[in-house]
Amino acid sequence: MAITISLFDLYKIGPGPSSSHTMGPMTAGLDFQKRLQKLDDEDLARADHLGVTLYGSLSATGKGHGTDRAVVAGLLGWHPEEVDPDEFDLLLTPEDKPRVFKIKNKELPCDQKTVAFGPIQHGFAHANTLEISLDAKGESILHKKYYSVGGGFIQWDGWRPLERKDPKYQFETMEGLKTILRKKGMDIPDVVMANEIAMTGLSGSEIEEKLDHILEVMESSLERGLNTRGPLPGEIGLGRKAAGLAQRAQEETHKPGRILLMFNAYALAVAEENAAGHVVVTAPTMGSCGVMPAVVRLAREYFRADRKTLRRGLMTAAVIGFLAKHNASISGAEVGCQGEIGVASAMAAAFLAQVRGASMDILANAAEIALEHHLGMTCDPVKGYVQIPCVERNAMGAVKAYNAYLLASAGDPGKQKVSFDQVIQVMLDTGRDMSCKYKETSLGGLAVSMAQC
Ligand code: SF4
Repeated sequence: MAITISLFDLYKIGPGPSSSHTMGPMTAGLDFQKRLQKLDDEDLARADHLGVTLYGSLSATGKGHGTDRAVVAGLLGWHPEEVDPDEFDLLLTPEDKPRVFKIKNKELPCDQKTVAFGPIQHGFAHANTLEISLDAKGESILHKKYYSVGGGFIQWDGWRPLERKDPKYQFETMEGLKTILRKKGMDIPDVVMANEIAMTGLSGSEIEEKLDHILEVMESSLERGLNTRGPLPGEIGLGRKAAGLAQRAQEETHKPGRILLMFNAYALAVAEENAAGHVVVTAPTMGSCGVMPAVVRLAREYFRADRKTLRRGLMTAAVIGFLAKHNASISGAEVGCQGEIGVASAMAAAFLAQVRGASMDILANAAEIALEHHLGMTCDPVKGYVQIPCVERNAMGAVKAYNAYLLASAGDPGKQKVSFDQVIQVMLDTGRDMSCKYKETSLGGLAVSMAQC
């Protein structure tokens, strides 16, 4: 089946810190809220409880990720793109004003008891499962089980992809895409643009406008992060580093050192904003949201890339995310951090190759190299917060992306031994073999060894 993911399925705007544990559950809450509006008045009149149960990774790390707040925000009708981060921070805390769920004329209590943290081990179809139920005297009136499958996407039993028109150029592997490019004499951004127009019905200029908005939100989160100091929220007490690194860069007299310091600071700035629960862009997820803005800023500032070039870079990077999502996963709960920072780094490597005008082969090789050197990377966030190792991992992913592009542009690109399609398959197989301790449950790795921090 051809890939039918839209650019704006992949690049989504919302509050952090996690696309699977924050944005996905918020979207599930919002979906359930819409279903509630369709209930008849008789059912609503007898309803006495609206409740959520989180399972698996959502239960294990949901507190640190703000999953409880997120799903309640969705049930209150809040949209990820429009949510006020300060109001979101307060939700379900003792300092917040009293809230109620309003469903037509019916009002039901909304408090900390709304969300229950269920078993970590379960037999549901996806690691990130949540159930939402409207009940009357213990009996369900409306019940839905949701799977938060990564990158803010949700599914349910019987879910079908959004009905979209067929993409103009159909492919599901990098090799398939390369064949189209060779036959038609096109480049990746042209194919992505043609497909986006065909699938969504948007015009080229509307798509460009939306891409510009994505670039603006990336830039504003980066700027906010660069200008904020102090500790990140939560019990770890981790301090922000981006502003300090940027200051050190100003004092650095060695030019390459200065660029490297700033490049790290860019990635940290956005990752720290995400960890603070502020608005970022999924690229492909929130945990990995710092990698792409770092290369975008690098391209703008040091390679003097103009708006059009940046848009084309975003479209090329998106194809890498599409292929990873379609053929493997971009969910840390499914395949570990290789699917988040690894895929973000591969997207960023392809972005740099596109911006620098590299050939199709170099571009695919750059993405392959970046992902190859994240294979096996586990997801073990300390205390369930998207902070350790996540924040620094964004800086490492960005630096590796640049290096992957440099390595790919040396030598004969036709002699690359591992293809991008192969490395995606290896990522999936490795993720399947990975113990669930290392897939966003905080039951292994750093999460266990740093439990006292
Ligand atoms: S370790 Fe990686 S996959 Fe896990 S929460 Fe952090 S960024 Fe996401």
